[in-house]
Amino acid sequence: MSYNQLYINGQWLTPKNGQTFSSIDPSNEQEIAQVAAASVEDAELAVQAARQAFDQTDWSQQPKQRAVYLRAIAQEIRQQLDQLAEIEVRDNGKPLPEAVWDIQDAAGCFDFYADLAEQLAENQDEQIPLSDERFSSVVCKEAVGVACAIIPWNYPLLMAAWKVAPALAAGCTLILKPAEATSLTAMELGRIAEKVGLPAGVLNIVTGIGSEIGPYLTAHPEIDKVAFTGSVPIGKQIMQSAAHSVKNLSLELGGKSAFIIFADSDLDAAVEWIMFGIFWNQGQVCSATSRVLVEQAIYPELLKRLAEAAQKIKIGQGLEADVKLGPLVNAKQYQQVMNAIQQGKQDGVTLMSGGKRPAHLAQGYYVEPTIFMDVPVEHPLWTDEIFGPVVAIRAFETEQEAIQLANQSIFGLAGAVMSKDMARCQRVAGKLRAGIIWINCSQPTFTEAPWGGYKQSGIGRELGIWGLENYLEIKQITSYDSDQPWGWYNS
Ligand code: ADP
Repeated sequence: MSYNQLYINGQWLTPKNGQTFSSIDPSNEQEIAQVAAASVEDAELAVQAARQAFDQTDWSQQPKQRAVYLRAIAQEIRQQLDQLAEIEVRDNGKPLPEAVWDIQDAAGCFDFYADLAEQLAENQDEQIPLSDERFSSVVCKEAVGVACAIIPWNYPLLMAAWKVAPALAAGCTLILKPAEATSLTAMELGRIAEKVGLPAGVLNIVTGIGSEIGPYLTAHPEIDKVAFTGSVPIGKQIMQSAAHSVKNLSLELGGKSAFIIFADSDLDAAVEWIMFGIFWNQGQVCSATSRVLVEQAIYPELLKRLAEAAQKIKIGQGLEADVKLGPLVNAKQYQQVMNAIQQGKQDGVTLMSGGKRPAHLAQGYYVEPTIFMDVPVEHPLWTDEIFGPVVAIRAFETEQEAIQLANQSIFGLAGAVMSKDMARCQRVAGKLRAGIIWINCSQPTFTEAPWGGYKQSGIGRELGIWGLENYLEIKQITSYDSDQPWGWYNS
């Protein structure tokens, strides 16, 4: 399969400068594809195509038709499930069952927003009461215009779906820019769009180097909205870039989410959810519960069980049976995670388990599931997002202390609490300063529920009705219905 072209205005175009970059299989460090590296000139073509499709076609006026396309995309993704999941494993490294979840969720996301596009068609105008009866006012929702979606590499097709589906449902046209590490399934989405006959220019996909075309796109005066998921430093750059033309902006950035485990918890369940919360997707998850706070009474026993369980996790190539932990996405990420681990070791933080490349895997970006205990609250292992299979654990004595430690972070994406006492769980959930709270679990994510963070974890919410609203403007149309003169001049 070839990936050396861009999908712009319904056509496959070779980048103007003919450049490509390699996509690497992180399990063996071998090249799997050459991917088109869009130049600024190519990005400009994509913006013009999206602008034209928004301004000069009736795409934004046809919610029912949009729903039909969204459902067709969902159906096509399902039909290609096996193939897409395998591409995702080779490109990203994740274990196959997780890739299958992602692809199924991506299809589900398109179906969900098809429903919302239909609802939009039915409830377009809302009459609102005004304090002056001589006037009447109708509020309607309209597409924000041309959107630019910039996505990360941890859930390649799913992150594309989280932005493309609501943007299309809202009636936007868009430019999708996948992460350079994992561009392949985004280009497959382009092929699917073409196959289902999505009108030209509605969805444009440009692969390329973020630092080269990203600033151009995010500052572009013809783009009305930027939706970004990625790191905090790039999110800050995008905010600045988008400020030039005061763009509508939504950001889903990093996290360092806390998981509070009370002593009355079922220890087996605690071990399972702690591991899922940090080792799922190799810990490359913005909402990963990478800080774990354990009530002192069960701290030694839980740590012992956790270390035993972590050592049993099967690490290997994502297509191998029973593998739970694949390689990290690329050399850069591997190095960053290894550096963080090295720093912890150097500073004398207690390493309970893992902390190195698995002995049986000489090639590939593999890191053992790694557990640090008694991590000081000022240490980078406790404060910084590592984005790898590394968990920092410490004990607490009181509920109040646990809440205070959990909230002591520049991030506020997620949090989790485990206890048999539901009243306590609810109380703690209410006090955690984060956009997503899990009780007696960590990480399950639903298309219907809002997703996004407090503090430096971002701005706005994706998924659910909130994801659609991300791509909608609100307009009031107010009319003067009285026969009487207004009386400012003509009294
Ligand atoms: P990582 O460093 O882990 O790849 P990033 O936050 O840098 O995470 O990347 C997320 C997305 O942002 C990718 O699609 C990347 O290409 C893109 N990107 C990188 N730099 C910029 C930039 N300056 N402006 C816009 N997008 C960018």
